[in-house]
Amino acid sequence: MLTWEQADNHQALWAKVAAAPEVLLMLDYDGTLAPFTAERDRAWPYDGVRESLRRLAACNGIVPVIVSGRQCHEIPPLLDLGIPLEVWGGHGAERQLPGAQSEKAALSGDLRQRLDDAFALACGQVCLRRIERKTFSVAVHVRGMDSGTASLVLDALRGQWTLLASDAALEILPFECGLELRVAGFSKARAVTQLLKDHPLAAAFYLGDDKTDEDAFRVLVPVLASGDRTGAAVLVTDRPAAVSAAQWHLVPPVQLLAFLSRLAACRC
Ligand SMILES: [Mg+2]
Repeated sequence: MLTWEQADNHQALWAKVAAAPEVLLMLDYDGTLAPFTAERDRAWPYDGVRESLRRLAACNGIVPVIVSGRQCHEIPPLLDLGIPLEVWGGHGAERQLPGAQSEKAALSGDLRQRLDDAFALACGQVCLRRIERKTFSVAVHVRGMDSGTASLVLDALRGQWTLLASDAALEILPFECGLELRVAGFSKARAVTQLLKDHPLAAAFYLGDDKTDEDAFRVLVPVLASGDRTGAAVLVTDRPAAVSAAQWHLVPPVQLLAFLSRLAACRC
């Protein structure tokens, strides 16, 4: 994986980004644009991120898109840019075009009931504020819990949810500080695949911090490797860069802001 210093010096890439008809800037939210907090509804962006994104959104041909595990409606109040952006929520299950209502995939009654059951089981393990009941999943967050308690909770929950996920229709997926039971077939790969189709000539960047972003990296990297377009799959984390499909590693917030600034400098 390239460090920011190496990526920043990649003159050939930045020249192609400057010359591309569009730049598709796909951004995870929690852990990428905003630091983790125990209170999910107060996960504000890092200082400087709002200003950088406003600047980029005003640049000719830059298309910022948020790709989050949250539901679409949660993002605008947290990001608070004051300008409409495209948002993909629920790990690719939900899409909200700028200024429009969100569109969700259909869900069968059986799966809805099983998610309700998963929610009830989660209520037996953690308090309500730690549970997210989304259209296509139930997520339990253990942010701020001591690690021993968090492990016990997640192990117990995994055991209970395994019975609900005994067929291929549901899958249990760990994420940073939590566990999710999700309808199979939805991942951030779905969002990235559609966005690349919608912007066929764009340079493409995807920035994410989490296991759920690896699905997005795995779609984007082969497209970039084929030479059809330029861009990068970017892991944003202050932990040592782990095994990842990403090509670059940025340490937030300083290197994240440096990346956004570099992108603005070559396009605005
Ligand atoms: Mg994240």
